[in-house]
Amino acid sequence: MVKQKALFLDRDGVINRDYGYVGRVEDFEFIDGILDLIYKAWLDGYLPIIVTNQSGIGRGYYTFEDFESVTSFMLDTMQKFGIGIKREQLFFCPHTPNDNCNCRKPKSGMFLEAIKEFNIDIDNSIMIGDKLTDIEASKGAGVAHQILIDTNQSIKWEDIDGF
Ligand SMILES: [Mg+2]
Ligand SMILES: [Zn+2]
Repeated sequence: MVKQKALFLDRDGVINRDYGYVGRVEDFEFIDGILDLIYKAWLDGYLPIIVTNQSGIGRGYYTFEDFESVTSFMLDTMQKFGIGIKREQLFFCPHTPNDNCNCRKPKSGMFLEAIKEFNIDIDNSIMIGDKLTDIEASKGAGVAHQILIDTNQSIKWEDIDGF
């Protein structure tokens, strides 16, 4: 079966501005250029996959329903931009560090699940994150290329393409 290359993305600080625990649509603000980046990656054949720690749920700062409202808003906006992304392409961990789950980054659980589910070609896939835990988690799953950016930094596909 043909494998699919992926663009893995952290959410907070990469897709939307990270003010800490963004749990409501009114707090969700896209970072300049990120929709364009994901769209171009998608045109280049990368399946966008979002992998996000959401301990705000486990800590009780916002509910699962709040998170799903934010998710719908984010994905609707991406789809209107022309990006091929569905709810199944988003993986989240609702746990706190005390829960000792296997999904919370820097653990690789969410990546391993995504790789299996979408038959991902890890040798040709990229992860963009704003924390070392993002990088560690994707490396742990064997994703070949990691890009660490500053939190809320605006980046262009042209700057990271070319692997
Ligand atoms: Mg982040
Ligand atoms: Zn978890």
